[in-house]
Amino acid sequence: MLIDLNEVEGDPVEGVADYCICGAGVAGIVLALELAKHSNVILLEAGGTYLSGDSQDIYKGEIVGRPYFDLALTRLRYFGGSSNHWGGYCRPLDAHDFVPKSYVDFSGWPIRREHLDPYVERAREILDIAGERGVTSSPYDAAEAAIERAGSLQPFAFWWSTPTRFGSKYEGAIRSNPNLTCVLNANVVDIGLVDDHDAVDFLEVRNYAGRSSRVRAKAFIVAAGGIENPRLLLNCNKQIPEGIGNGAGLVGRFFTEHPHHFVGAFLLEDRVKAQLEANWVGARAATRFFAPTVALMEREQILNFGLRVIPSQTTFMRGFRSRLKDLVCSADWIASAAGSLRGEEVNCFDGALRIESESTPNPNSLIRLGSETDRFGMRRVVLDWQLSAIDIHTIRTAAVRFGEAFAQSGAGRVRVEEWILSDDADLPSRGNDEVGGNHHMCTTRMGTTPRDGVVDSDQRVFGIDNLYLAGSSVFATGGHANPTFTIVQMTLRLADHLRA
Ligand SMILES: Cc1cc2nc3c(=O)[nH]c(=O)nc-3n(C[C@H](O)[C@H](O)[C@H](O)COP(=O)(O)OP(=O)(O)OC[C@H]3O[C@@H](n4cnc5c(N)ncnc54)[C@H](O)[C@@H]3O)c2cc1C
Repeated sequence: MLIDLNEVEGDPVEGVADYCICGAGVAGIVLALELAKHSNVILLEAGGTYLSGDSQDIYKGEIVGRPYFDLALTRLRYFGGSSNHWGGYCRPLDAHDFVPKSYVDFSGWPIRREHLDPYVERAREILDIAGERGVTSSPYDAAEAAIERAGSLQPFAFWWSTPTRFGSKYEGAIRSNPNLTCVLNANVVDIGLVDDHDAVDFLEVRNYAGRSSRVRAKAFIVAAGGIENPRLLLNCNKQIPEGIGNGAGLVGRFFTEHPHHFVGAFLLEDRVKAQLEANWVGARAATRFFAPTVALMEREQILNFGLRVIPSQTTFMRGFRSRLKDLVCSADWIASAAGSLRGEEVNCFDGALRIESESTPNPNSLIRLGSETDRFGMRRVVLDWQLSAIDIHTIRTAAVRFGEAFAQSGAGRVRVEEWILSDDADLPSRGNDEVGGNHHMCTTRMGTTPRDGVVDSDQRVFGIDNLYLAGSSVFATGGHANPTFTIVQMTLRLADHLRA
């Protein structure tokens, strides 16, 4: 059933449900449909079925620290959540992402990849992933194999989701499920605890006219996204002044992203360029991806990364345009003068190298509450994203090691960006293409004890019997893979745990 709190009279969700979930995004919808197979579920969604200014305004916040996307644009606050504009890149985390690294504080998870492997096939179905990429022959086959043989980098592939829009795909299933009540325009504004503060009694919800009601359930799951999960816990401070689950001051800490940066450009040998042209499948499908081997990570004391080798179609220019390009690109000063005349840099390369890398769990990289409040009186977030020296070392090492391997493979030559070889302590910031992936992770991380995490290995908030968190806020570390596939796997695992 789907009802709208802005439209119904009275209390639409009386009684005590088995489960109450806050947030109908990827995690909330997957969990609700799984649990509603056997139990009675209430799913509370802050937005309606379309984007609205009233709802999106609640996501406004302040950026201090590293530059970041506008917080009201990097996520969507309506039915389906940020899946309404995600890109569909999918990949499970690597097995070694879960294992502690001796040179990285707070690394490692309390679970291993084997705990999530049983959910791969089901997650692929939910995310409409048909197969591997649709390329039959790769222009880089020989180069890829040679790079792999060199032993420090390994090729990998993404799976593509269509991309699944969770709101539109699952609206019908939600409407027709008698065990499931999804309430739209229901903003969770408070979590009420029992007197001993060791269990949740109710969630308080408000519609946009300010009318409030309380929802009671046996267990509660907050799945409001990687920034809102900690924001909600910190704002719920009437009974516990430091916020719920925040006894060790960890809620909001360890904010992690995947820094995205262009790290260089490459020229292909004529032979490889001819193969590429003969098999041209478009830049996206011809893009190749490389990650470090565990041996390279340990030797260089770096983190995981995904390096994208993105060919450019202008490589195949013919006739006069090709001869003109050769002339312009024959010396740096000609290319630069031509660029000034055109008002745009001349691309003399056959493609670009772009990295999306892991970053260290850093307690000083965080989300906290600011002084401004939203229409419900909840304090807005302040994002203070920080990178550590090892994160920058990872990006530099990736570019240099790839350049070496590419040259050795005989595929071509790489020119790394100047800043890769400089001593600057930070990364350049050159606009929205070089920020992150809109991946908000680790802000209520999973730990083995309340001293190193907010939730335990079952995603239950330490110290609160019936409160669970879902989504990438519970990741202990971020790996380099885009997070949504792992979110779905973990949510299916959480559903199994709750049912058991
Ligand atoms: C432009 C863009 C591109 C992306 N591309 C990719 C990609 O290619 N691959 C990938 O893996 N990931 C990608 N992502 C990330 C992906 O969208 C997220 O990982 C995913 O949506 C997170 O799911 P979630 O359910 O945890 O949170 P969300 O999708 O953010 O859902 C949270 C839900 O909670 C609701 N909510 C929030 N607060 C409250 C409240 N107080 N009360 C009630 N409800 C509330 C929201 O309205 C929303 O519906 C991308 C993101 C963006 C923005």
